[in-house]
Amino acid sequence: MIDPEDYKLHIFDLDDTLVNTSYSYTIAQESAIRDTFPQIPSDAITALLPVLKWMCRQFGSGNISEYMSAFLKSRPDLFAVDSDILELILDRYKCSFNTEFKCFNGAISYIQYLKKTDKKLALVSNGIVASQFEKLRTTGLDSFFPAPLCYISGAYPSNFKKPSPHMLEQACQYVGVSPPEVVFYGNSVGDILAGNLAGVTTVHFSESTPIPGDLPAIARPDYTIENWTELMDFKKG
Ligand SMILES: [Mg+2]
Repeated sequence: MIDPEDYKLHIFDLDDTLVNTSYSYTIAQESAIRDTFPQIPSDAITALLPVLKWMCRQFGSGNISEYMSAFLKSRPDLFAVDSDILELILDRYKCSFNTEFKCFNGAISYIQYLKKTDKKLALVSNGIVASQFEKLRTTGLDSFFPAPLCYISGAYPSNFKKPSPHMLEQACQYVGVSPPEVVFYGNSVGDILAGNLAGVTTVHFSESTPIPGDLPAIARPDYTIENWTELMDFKKG
């Protein structure tokens, strides 16, 4: 088990590591369609949800209007498409997302504990700068991660996105620590690969995303945690 005391700098991925982004997207997509088209039988919507998820992946989760519109056009027999409908969908989506979007259980307590023990904190996240800062504000994480310690790929050329170790290296340099003094927590293969390439200790947060077993050694984490509470229990024990 990782001992947080061993590291001076603790770097976190954001989506699906500290906050339940994918879950909230899924719930919001489903609610938006169900609420906008109450006349369509529930099981018909259920059968179409994988297509909606697929469209989201093709267009990118930030381009809601585009993937929703493409999804509606994929079934002209079921859905009417006009700008009023899209506006309604976006509104329902936003309401539902804001209700569901939260930090994972125990994440804030763990970060508070690190802060109290004078550890340095940084965030390394792939995404659009404005959207990632909005997520930090919504969840109150912005009070733990000041802007100079938030490394968001949208601010860099695309080749510096994780799995490139570039943003992690930048964070280490800014804080003035060497890789053995650093731990990086992430949920994806790209996170672990980036962390291992940067030479820092890697922790896979598996509550949201299991990691495949047949990975090259450079993409395997040093530690795996199932949830944030586990780390807090370890400190108490
Ligand atoms: Mg992530």
